[in-house]
Amino acid sequence: MLGPCSRLFEQGKACSTRIAFVATLSFRDARACVIDHVTASRAVPAVEHVGLDCAAGRVLAKDAQADRDYPALARSVRDGFAVRAGDTPGKLHVIGEVRAGEVFAGHVNSGEAVEIMTGAPVPQGADAVVMVEHIARQDRQIACPAVRVGQFINPKGSEARRSEVVMRAGLRLDYSSVALLATIGITRVAVFRKPRIALLATGDEIVEPDEGPADHQIRNSNVHSLAAQVARAGGEASILPVAKDDRESTRAAIELGLTSDLLALSGGVSAGKYDLVEVVLAGLGAEFFFDRVLIQPGQPLVFGRAREKFFFGLPGNPASTMVTFELFARAALELLGGQDRSLLPLTLAPLGADFCHKPGLTRFLPAWLSDDGVLTPVPWQGSSDVPALARSNAFLVADADREQWKAGDTIQVLLK
Ligand code: AMP
Ligand code: MG
Repeated sequence: MLGPCSRLFEQGKACSTRIAFVATLSFRDARACVIDHVTASRAVPAVEHVGLDCAAGRVLAKDAQADRDYPALARSVRDGFAVRAGDTPGKLHVIGEVRAGEVFAGHVNSGEAVEIMTGAPVPQGADAVVMVEHIARQDRQIACPAVRVGQFINPKGSEARRSEVVMRAGLRLDYSSVALLATIGITRVAVFRKPRIALLATGDEIVEPDEGPADHQIRNSNVHSLAAQVARAGGEASILPVAKDDRESTRAAIELGLTSDLLALSGGVSAGKYDLVEVVLAGLGAEFFFDRVLIQPGQPLVFGRAREKFFFGLPGNPASTMVTFELFARAALELLGGQDRSLLPLTLAPLGADFCHKPGLTRFLPAWLSDDGVLTPVPWQGSSDVPALARSNAFLVADADREQWKAGDTIQVLLK
């Protein structure tokens, strides 16, 4: 029995059009295999600088530190009155007000209160804030209920301490991270260069989307769905011309693809006579880590390394290409881009209808996740059904070791 990720391809087998079995892995083992291999051999990417408003989606290249305490002084989180908790409950005398952007010059002594607005610094002497809604006021007198020390105050440094690392290098920046960069005054952001991935479709039947296909031909949708997935994963795609199902064409295209940081092929990895991708890669001295994963769609999936670059041979049916990219190639791309980790957007949802499948494979089926969190499979004709895929907003994930689910049972969902 072959262990995962363990075996070099036997060069001698490369002369036939079929190659020997390399390794069949479960979904989880295959993902771990990809992550382990890429993590073990990746180099730190080059660093470039971008403006704050171009930073979302990029990977932070340098730890970001707080430039001061956050908040820099104790601030009120409500509109109301700054008081001394020890005076409450009781009647208090209002000695002034403080607005956001001001500092109250005086001191709150026993029996006194200062009217305060959200975001304003808490005056000296006060140790709590009571909401305006909870106060009865008559001129400069308020009747204050009992409050506890610290109520509605964000203490100085409670969100972050000066010099504290608030984001680590390797973080994929999102809109909240951009807010934090702005907050701490970083306007030129050090990010890793985007990893380049070559996308190579194979197949004699494939024509470009702007061509009029004959009935026996198919427009090349895969490199375009892949390019969209790559952009979302923070990579830069270069789309290569389609390789024909012959060795010379496939070899030349693969050699070109291997000059990128990563290569993703679509098609040509099944058991057919003209599925030449593995054979050609073997001829280039490739090392194969697995060539079959117990999933559907996407079972004949190839992962390996040639000329020091990782490659994925993604099966050509559109659903297979999409799903295998999301599950495996995306992790490789994100890690090569300097991300500290790659996470799958998996969640759980109740099923809107009974569901069953044949155990043995983990299935990823087009589904609709409604506004109220209920998941319903989208009817489809199988892996080539692009219209059904386009009607889905998620994939139902059916575990390999369970056969039946009732409506209302919880099931895993891969968000799209
Ligand atoms: P293959 O994995 O090469 O056996 O391809 C399986 C099926 O996927 C083919 O019969 C095509 O219908 C389809 N296919 C292959 N490549 C593409 C592509 N680039 N775009 C859309 N469909 C494709
Ligand atoms: Mg093909």
